[in-house]
Amino acid sequence: MDSPRSTPTSPPLWLLAELTYRCPLHCAFCYNPVDFARHGAELDTGAWRRVIGEARQMGAAQIGFSGGEPLLRDDLETLVAHARGLGFYTNLITSGIGLTETRIGDLKRAGLDHIQLSFQDSTRELNDFLTSTRTFERKQRVASLIKAHDYPMVLNCVLHRYNLPHVAQIIEMALEMGAEYLELANTQYYGWAMLNRAQLMPTAEQLREAEDVVNRYRERIGARCRILFVVPDYFETRPKACMNGWGSVFLGVAPDGTALPCHAARSLPGLELPNVRDTSLADIWYRSSGFDAYRGDAWMREPCRTCGERESDHGGCRCQAYLLTGDAAAADPVCSKSDHHGKIEQAVQFARMPSREVSAQPLIFRSRENSLRFDD
Ligand code: SF4
Ligand code: SF4
Repeated sequence: MDSPRSTPTSPPLWLLAELTYRCPLHCAFCYNPVDFARHGAELDTGAWRRVIGEARQMGAAQIGFSGGEPLLRDDLETLVAHARGLGFYTNLITSGIGLTETRIGDLKRAGLDHIQLSFQDSTRELNDFLTSTRTFERKQRVASLIKAHDYPMVLNCVLHRYNLPHVAQIIEMALEMGAEYLELANTQYYGWAMLNRAQLMPTAEQLREAEDVVNRYRERIGARCRILFVVPDYFETRPKACMNGWGSVFLGVAPDGTALPCHAARSLPGLELPNVRDTSLADIWYRSSGFDAYRGDAWMREPCRTCGERESDHGGCRCQAYLLTGDAAAADPVCSKSDHHGKIEQAVQFARMPSREVSAQPLIFRSRENSLRFDD
Protein backbone atom coordinates (compact mmCIF):
# COMPACT_ATOMS: atom_id res chain seq x y z
CA MET A 1 0.00 0.00 0.00
CA ASP A 2 1.59 3.33 -1.08
CA SER A 3 1.60 6.32 1.22
CA PRO A 4 0.31 9.73 0.04
CA ARG A 5 2.86 12.19 -1.31
CA SER A 6 3.06 15.52 -3.08
CA THR A 7 4.73 16.14 -6.45
CA PRO A 8 6.72 19.17 -7.68
CA THR A 9 4.66 21.74 -9.58
CA SER A 10 5.27 22.13 -13.33
CA PRO A 11 4.26 25.32 -15.16
CA PRO A 12 0.76 25.60 -16.64
CA LEU A 13 0.53 24.55 -20.30
CA TRP A 14 -2.91 25.87 -21.10
CA LEU A 15 -4.37 29.30 -20.31
CA LEU A 16 -8.12 29.64 -20.69
CA ALA A 17 -9.06 33.31 -20.94
CA GLU A 18 -12.78 33.55 -20.20
CA LEU A 19 -13.12 37.07 -21.53
CA THR A 20 -16.78 37.61 -20.66
CA TYR A 21 -19.82 35.84 -19.26
CA ARG A 22 -22.03 37.79 -21.67
CA CYS A 23 -23.49 35.57 -24.38
CA PRO A 24 -26.27 35.96 -26.94
CA LEU A 25 -27.23 32.30 -26.42
CA HIS A 26 -29.03 30.75 -23.46
CA CYS A 27 -27.91 27.12 -23.52
CA ALA A 28 -29.63 24.91 -20.99
CA PHE A 29 -26.33 23.00 -20.45
CA CYS A 30 -24.03 26.05 -20.26
CA TYR A 31 -20.83 25.39 -18.33
CA ASN A 32 -20.66 28.94 -16.92
CA PRO A 33 -21.44 29.36 -13.21
CA VAL A 34 -25.15 29.53 -12.45
CA ASP A 35 -24.59 32.76 -10.50
CA PHE A 36 -22.53 34.44 -13.28
CA ALA A 37 -24.70 37.59 -13.17
CA ARG A 38 -23.51 38.30 -9.62
CA HIS A 39 -19.83 38.36 -10.56
CA GLY A 40 -17.78 41.55 -10.78
CA ALA A 41 -16.70 43.71 -13.72
CA GLU A 42 -14.69 42.26 -16.61
CA LEU A 43 -10.92 42.71 -16.78
CA ASP A 44 -9.92 45.45 -19.20
CA THR A 45 -7.58 45.08 -22.18
CA GLY A 46 -4.49 46.13 -20.22
CA ALA A 47 -5.11 43.57 -17.48
CA TRP A 48 -5.63 40.77 -20.02
CA ARG A 49 -2.44 41.72 -21.87
CA ARG A 50 -0.49 41.51 -18.62
CA VAL A 51 -2.04 38.13 -17.69
CA ILE A 52 -1.29 36.71 -21.15
CA GLY A 53 2.31 37.94 -20.93
CA GLU A 54 2.82 36.45 -17.47
CA ALA A 55 1.37 33.10 -18.54
CA ARG A 56 3.68 32.94 -21.54
CA GLN A 57 6.67 33.83 -19.38
CA MET A 58 5.80 30.93 -17.10
CA GLY A 59 5.84 28.57 -20.08
CA ALA A 60 2.17 28.26 -21.11
CA ALA A 61 2.00 27.37 -24.82
CA GLN A 62 -1.71 27.35 -25.70
CA ILE A 63 -4.35 29.95 -25.05
CA GLY A 64 -8.09 29.58 -25.45
CA PHE A 65 -10.30 32.65 -25.76
CA SER A 66 -13.73 31.71 -24.49
CA GLY A 67 -16.62 33.03 -22.45
CA GLY A 68 -19.61 33.47 -22.61
CA GLU A 69 -19.12 34.62 -26.16
CA PRO A 70 -15.62 36.09 -26.60
CA LEU A 71 -16.67 37.86 -29.82
CA LEU A 72 -18.67 40.26 -27.65
CA ARG A 73 -15.33 41.79 -26.59
CA ASP A 74 -14.21 44.34 -29.17
CA ASP A 75 -10.59 43.92 -28.02
CA LEU A 76 -10.52 40.23 -29.02
CA GLU A 77 -8.36 40.94 -32.08
CA THR A 78 -5.90 42.97 -29.97
CA LEU A 79 -5.59 40.17 -27.41
CA VAL A 80 -5.17 37.50 -30.08
CA ALA A 81 -2.42 39.55 -31.75
CA HIS A 82 -0.70 40.06 -28.40
CA ALA A 83 -0.83 36.34 -27.55
CA ARG A 84 0.32 35.29 -31.03
CA GLY A 85 3.17 37.80 -30.89
CA LEU A 86 4.37 36.17 -27.68
CA GLY A 87 4.35 32.75 -29.31
CA PHE A 88 1.09 31.29 -28.02
CA TYR A 89 -0.95 28.86 -30.14
CA THR A 90 -4.26 30.71 -30.17
CA ASN A 91 -7.75 29.15 -30.09
CA LEU A 92 -11.13 30.83 -30.32
CA ILE A 93 -13.98 28.90 -28.71
CA THR A 94 -17.18 30.40 -30.04
CA SER A 95 -20.89 30.00 -30.74
CA GLY A 96 -20.10 31.86 -33.97
CA ILE A 97 -22.59 34.63 -33.26
CA GLY A 98 -20.81 37.87 -34.10
CA LEU A 99 -18.21 36.30 -36.41
CA THR A 100 -18.62 38.46 -39.50
CA GLU A 101 -16.53 38.58 -42.69
CA THR A 102 -14.70 41.64 -41.31
CA ARG A 103 -13.97 40.13 -37.94
CA ILE A 104 -12.72 36.80 -39.20
CA GLY A 105 -10.41 38.68 -41.59
CA ASP A 106 -9.12 40.80 -38.72
CA LEU A 107 -8.65 37.75 -36.52
CA LYS A 108 -6.76 35.99 -39.29
CA ARG A 109 -4.45 39.00 -39.65
CA ALA A 110 -4.01 39.06 -35.87
CA GLY A 111 -2.65 35.51 -36.15
CA LEU A 112 -5.54 33.43 -34.79
CA ASP A 113 -4.59 29.78 -35.31
CA HIS A 114 -7.75 27.84 -34.61
CA ILE A 115 -11.52 28.26 -34.30
CA GLN A 116 -13.87 25.84 -32.55
CA LEU A 117 -17.48 26.41 -33.53
CA SER A 118 -20.33 25.01 -31.46
CA PHE A 119 -23.62 23.69 -32.80
CA GLN A 120 -26.37 22.40 -30.56
CA ASP A 121 -28.01 20.07 -33.08
CA SER A 122 -28.35 19.24 -36.77
CA THR A 123 -31.88 20.67 -36.90
CA ARG A 124 -32.85 24.30 -36.69
CA GLU A 125 -35.73 23.43 -34.35
CA LEU A 126 -33.63 21.78 -31.66
CA ASN A 127 -30.59 24.05 -32.06
CA ASP A 128 -32.82 27.05 -31.54
CA PHE A 129 -34.87 25.47 -28.76
CA LEU A 130 -31.81 24.51 -26.71
CA THR A 131 -30.26 27.97 -27.02
CA SER A 132 -33.56 29.83 -26.77
CA THR A 133 -32.50 31.85 -29.85
CA ARG A 134 -32.82 31.78 -33.64
CA THR A 135 -29.20 31.17 -34.53
CA PHE A 136 -29.02 27.97 -36.59
CA GLU A 137 -28.74 29.62 -40.03
CA ARG A 138 -26.23 32.16 -38.73
CA LYS A 139 -24.04 29.36 -37.44
CA GLN A 140 -24.22 27.70 -40.85
CA ARG A 141 -23.04 30.93 -42.48
CA VAL A 142 -20.22 31.20 -39.95
CA ALA A 143 -19.14 27.63 -40.76
CA SER A 144 -18.80 28.66 -44.44
CA LEU A 145 -16.80 31.74 -43.43
CA ILE A 146 -14.41 29.63 -41.37
CA LYS A 147 -13.87 27.35 -44.35
CA ALA A 148 -13.45 30.29 -46.75
CA HIS A 149 -10.72 31.70 -44.53
CA ASP A 150 -8.78 28.42 -44.62
CA TYR A 151 -9.20 27.49 -41.02
CA PRO A 152 -9.47 23.81 -40.14
CA MET A 153 -13.17 23.15 -39.54
CA VAL A 154 -13.54 22.09 -35.90
CA LEU A 155 -17.10 21.57 -34.74
CA ASN A 156 -18.29 20.87 -31.26
CA CYS A 157 -21.69 19.61 -30.21
CA VAL A 158 -22.72 18.91 -26.63
CA LEU A 159 -24.79 15.72 -26.47
CA HIS A 160 -27.67 14.81 -24.15
CA ARG A 161 -31.05 13.13 -24.15
CA TYR A 162 -32.54 15.52 -26.72
CA ASN A 163 -29.97 15.25 -29.50
CA LEU A 164 -28.36 11.83 -29.00
CA PRO A 165 -30.89 10.27 -31.41
CA HIS A 166 -29.61 12.76 -34.05
CA VAL A 167 -25.96 11.75 -33.88
CA ALA A 168 -25.93 10.40 -37.45
CA GLN A 169 -27.47 13.65 -38.76
CA ILE A 170 -25.00 15.72 -36.72
CA ILE A 171 -22.11 13.79 -38.28
CA GLU A 172 -23.64 14.22 -41.75
CA MET A 173 -23.96 17.96 -41.13
CA ALA A 174 -20.31 18.12 -40.06
CA LEU A 175 -19.22 16.23 -43.18
CA GLU A 176 -21.27 18.52 -45.44
CA MET A 177 -19.58 21.50 -43.83
CA GLY A 178 -16.19 19.94 -44.52
CA ALA A 179 -15.32 19.44 -40.84
CA GLU A 180 -11.91 17.94 -40.23
CA TYR A 181 -12.68 17.39 -36.59
CA LEU A 182 -15.93 16.83 -34.71
CA GLU A 183 -16.10 16.77 -30.95
CA LEU A 184 -19.24 15.07 -29.63
CA ALA A 185 -19.01 15.82 -25.94
CA ASN A 186 -21.65 14.35 -23.71
CA THR A 187 -22.92 16.80 -21.11
CA GLN A 188 -20.98 17.10 -17.87
CA TYR A 189 -23.28 17.87 -14.97
CA TYR A 190 -22.10 21.15 -13.45
CA GLY A 191 -23.53 24.65 -13.55
CA TRP A 192 -26.65 24.95 -15.69
CA ALA A 193 -26.47 21.32 -16.80
CA MET A 194 -26.75 20.24 -13.16
CA LEU A 195 -29.90 22.34 -12.77
CA ASN A 196 -31.31 20.55 -15.82
CA ARG A 197 -29.85 17.12 -15.12
CA ALA A 198 -33.16 15.27 -14.97
CA GLN A 199 -34.07 16.65 -18.38
CA LEU A 200 -30.71 16.18 -20.09
CA MET A 201 -29.57 12.78 -18.78
CA PRO A 202 -29.74 10.20 -21.56
CA THR A 203 -30.55 6.53 -21.15
CA ALA A 204 -27.79 3.92 -21.41
CA GLU A 205 -29.49 2.64 -24.59
CA GLN A 206 -29.36 6.08 -26.22
CA LEU A 207 -25.67 6.30 -25.47
CA ARG A 208 -24.90 2.84 -26.73
CA GLU A 209 -26.76 3.45 -29.97
CA ALA A 210 -25.02 6.80 -30.48
CA GLU A 211 -21.61 5.27 -29.89
CA ASP A 212 -22.40 2.49 -32.39
CA VAL A 213 -23.34 5.13 -34.96
CA VAL A 214 -20.08 7.00 -34.30
CA ASN A 215 -18.04 3.81 -34.68
CA ARG A 216 -19.75 2.94 -37.98
CA TYR A 217 -18.98 6.43 -39.31
CA ARG A 218 -15.39 6.21 -38.15
CA GLU A 219 -14.93 3.03 -40.16
CA ARG A 220 -16.61 4.51 -43.21
CA ILE A 221 -14.99 7.93 -43.38
CA GLY A 222 -11.52 7.10 -42.05
CA ALA A 223 -9.27 10.14 -41.72
CA ARG A 224 -11.62 12.49 -43.59
CA CYS A 225 -13.04 13.72 -40.28
CA ARG A 226 -11.81 12.74 -36.82
CA ILE A 227 -14.74 12.14 -34.49
CA LEU A 228 -14.18 12.38 -30.77
CA PHE A 229 -16.98 10.89 -28.64
CA VAL A 230 -16.66 11.83 -24.98
CA VAL A 231 -18.72 9.42 -22.84
CA PRO A 232 -20.49 10.97 -19.84
CA ASP A 233 -18.78 9.89 -16.65
CA TYR A 234 -22.13 9.05 -14.97
CA PHE A 235 -22.11 5.86 -17.03
CA GLU A 236 -18.65 4.81 -15.86
CA THR A 237 -17.37 3.18 -12.69
CA ARG A 238 -14.12 5.16 -12.55
CA PRO A 239 -13.92 8.95 -12.67
CA LYS A 240 -12.14 11.05 -15.25
CA ALA A 241 -8.72 12.48 -14.40
CA CYS A 242 -10.19 15.91 -14.01
CA MET A 243 -7.97 18.64 -15.51
CA ASN A 244 -5.18 16.04 -15.58
CA GLY A 245 -4.84 16.80 -11.90
CA TRP A 246 -5.66 19.97 -9.99
CA GLY A 247 -3.18 22.81 -10.63
CA SER A 248 -1.25 20.60 -13.00
CA VAL A 249 -1.62 21.89 -16.58
CA PHE A 250 -4.73 24.11 -16.69
CA LEU A 251 -5.02 27.72 -15.57
CA GLY A 252 -8.32 29.49 -16.16
CA VAL A 253 -9.02 33.16 -15.62
CA ALA A 254 -12.66 34.18 -15.19
CA PRO A 255 -13.98 37.46 -16.65
CA ASP A 256 -13.64 39.21 -13.28
CA GLY A 257 -10.01 38.06 -12.90
CA THR A 258 -10.58 35.15 -10.52
CA ALA A 259 -7.97 32.46 -11.24
CA LEU A 260 -9.41 28.96 -11.58
CA PRO A 261 -7.73 25.54 -11.33
CA CYS A 262 -10.83 24.20 -13.13
CA HIS A 263 -13.94 25.79 -14.68
CA ALA A 264 -16.20 25.04 -11.74
CA ALA A 265 -13.72 25.65 -8.91
CA ARG A 266 -15.44 28.75 -7.60
CA SER A 267 -18.38 26.58 -6.52
CA LEU A 268 -16.19 24.99 -3.82
CA PRO A 269 -16.81 26.64 -0.44
CA GLY A 270 -13.84 27.81 1.62
CA LEU A 271 -11.44 27.69 -1.32
CA GLU A 272 -9.45 30.91 -1.58
CA LEU A 273 -9.12 31.70 -5.27
CA PRO A 274 -6.78 34.63 -5.94
CA ASN A 275 -7.55 37.37 -8.45
CA VAL A 276 -5.14 38.40 -11.20
CA ARG A 277 -5.94 42.06 -10.41
CA ASP A 278 -3.85 41.88 -7.24
CA THR A 279 -1.68 38.75 -7.47
CA SER A 280 0.85 37.78 -10.12
CA LEU A 281 0.14 34.64 -12.12
CA ALA A 282 3.34 33.03 -10.80
CA ASP A 283 2.25 33.63 -7.19
CA ILE A 284 -1.19 32.26 -8.02
CA TRP A 285 0.19 29.13 -9.66
CA TYR A 286 3.11 28.31 -7.37
CA ARG A 287 2.23 29.90 -4.06
CA SER A 288 -1.55 30.20 -3.52
CA SER A 289 -3.52 27.95 -1.19
CA GLY A 290 -6.35 27.64 -3.72
CA PHE A 291 -4.11 26.13 -6.41
CA ASP A 292 -2.28 23.95 -3.88
CA ALA A 293 -5.42 22.64 -2.21
CA TYR A 294 -5.79 19.42 -4.24
CA ARG A 295 -2.34 18.98 -5.74
CA GLY A 296 -0.60 15.67 -5.17
CA ASP A 297 -2.48 13.22 -2.97
CA ALA A 298 -1.84 14.30 0.63
CA TRP A 299 -5.35 15.81 0.80
CA MET A 300 -7.11 12.58 -0.12
CA ARG A 301 -9.45 10.65 2.15
CA GLU A 302 -10.21 6.96 1.95
CA PRO A 303 -10.86 5.13 -0.32
CA CYS A 304 -8.60 7.26 -2.59
CA ARG A 305 -5.84 7.74 -0.04
CA THR A 306 -4.56 4.18 -0.30
CA CYS A 307 -5.97 3.32 -3.73
CA GLY A 308 -3.54 2.10 -6.39
CA GLU A 309 -5.39 4.08 -9.08
CA ARG A 310 -4.98 7.52 -7.52
CA GLU A 311 -2.11 8.53 -9.79
CA SER A 312 -4.16 7.90 -12.91
CA ASP A 313 -7.46 9.58 -11.95
CA HIS A 314 -6.39 11.84 -9.03
CA GLY A 315 -9.58 10.84 -7.20
CA GLY A 316 -11.73 12.35 -9.97
CA CYS A 317 -13.37 15.73 -10.01
CA ARG A 318 -13.34 17.86 -6.83
CA CYS A 319 -16.36 19.87 -7.93
CA GLN A 320 -18.43 16.77 -8.65
CA ALA A 321 -17.34 15.29 -5.31
CA TYR A 322 -18.54 18.42 -3.51
CA LEU A 323 -21.72 18.73 -5.55
CA LEU A 324 -22.84 15.18 -4.81
CA THR A 325 -21.34 14.46 -1.36
CA GLY A 326 -20.88 17.90 0.23
CA ASP A 327 -17.15 17.11 0.73
CA ALA A 328 -14.68 18.36 -1.88
CA ALA A 329 -11.98 15.94 -0.64
CA ALA A 330 -14.19 12.86 -1.05
CA ALA A 331 -13.78 10.36 -3.88
CA ASP A 332 -15.70 11.42 -6.97
CA PRO A 333 -18.97 9.45 -6.62
CA VAL A 334 -18.61 8.24 -10.20
CA CYS A 335 -16.15 5.76 -8.68
CA SER A 336 -17.80 2.47 -7.70
CA LYS A 337 -15.56 2.44 -4.58
CA SER A 338 -17.24 5.62 -3.32
CA ASP A 339 -19.92 5.25 -0.62
CA HIS A 340 -21.93 7.77 -2.65
CA HIS A 341 -21.84 5.92 -5.96
CA GLY A 342 -25.55 5.13 -5.48
CA LYS A 343 -26.33 8.81 -6.19
CA ILE A 344 -24.87 8.43 -9.67
CA GLU A 345 -26.77 5.19 -10.21
CA GLN A 346 -30.01 6.86 -9.08
CA ALA A 347 -29.58 9.69 -11.58
CA VAL A 348 -28.96 7.17 -14.36
CA GLN A 349 -31.98 5.11 -13.30
CA PHE A 350 -34.12 8.24 -13.28
CA ALA A 351 -33.29 8.74 -16.95
CA ARG A 352 -35.15 5.49 -17.69
CA MET A 353 -38.44 6.95 -16.49
CA PRO A 354 -40.99 7.40 -19.25
CA SER A 355 -40.05 10.59 -21.07
CA ARG A 356 -43.41 12.20 -20.40
CA GLU A 357 -42.62 12.26 -16.66
CA VAL A 358 -39.17 13.72 -17.22
CA SER A 359 -40.37 16.32 -19.66
CA ALA A 360 -42.92 17.56 -17.13
CA GLN A 361 -40.08 19.58 -15.57
CA PRO A 362 -39.32 22.65 -17.68
CA LEU A 363 -35.74 23.32 -18.76
CA ILE A 364 -34.05 26.26 -17.07
CA PHE A 365 -32.24 28.35 -19.68
CA ARG A 366 -29.08 30.31 -18.97
CA SER A 367 -30.09 33.94 -18.69
CA ARG A 368 -29.28 36.90 -16.52
CA GLU A 369 -32.72 36.73 -14.88
CA ASN A 370 -32.37 33.03 -14.07
CA SER A 371 -28.82 33.60 -12.87
CA LEU A 372 -30.09 36.11 -10.33
CA ARG A 373 -32.70 33.58 -9.16
CA PHE A 374 -30.30 30.68 -8.64
CA ASP A 375 -27.01 30.23 -6.80
CA ASP A 376 -24.25 27.78 -7.62
S1 SF4 B 1 -22.70 27.14 -23.56
FE1 SF4 B 1 -24.13 28.40 -24.79
S2 SF4 B 1 -24.84 30.01 -23.35
FE2 SF4 B 1 -22.99 29.07 -22.44
S3 SF4 B 1 -21.32 30.35 -23.11
FE3 SF4 B 1 -21.48 28.70 -24.61
S4 SF4 B 1 -22.84 29.49 -26.22
FE4 SF4 B 1 -23.07 30.82 -24.44
S1 SF4 C 1 -10.99 5.20 -4.96
FE1 SF4 C 1 -10.36 7.26 -5.59
S2 SF4 C 1 -8.34 6.99 -6.56
FE2 SF4 C 1 -9.30 4.93 -6.41
S3 SF4 C 1 -10.30 4.64 -8.39
FE3 SF4 C 1 -11.84 5.53 -7.00
S4 SF4 C 1 -11.70 7.75 -7.30
FE4 SF4 C 1 -9.84 6.83 -8.20
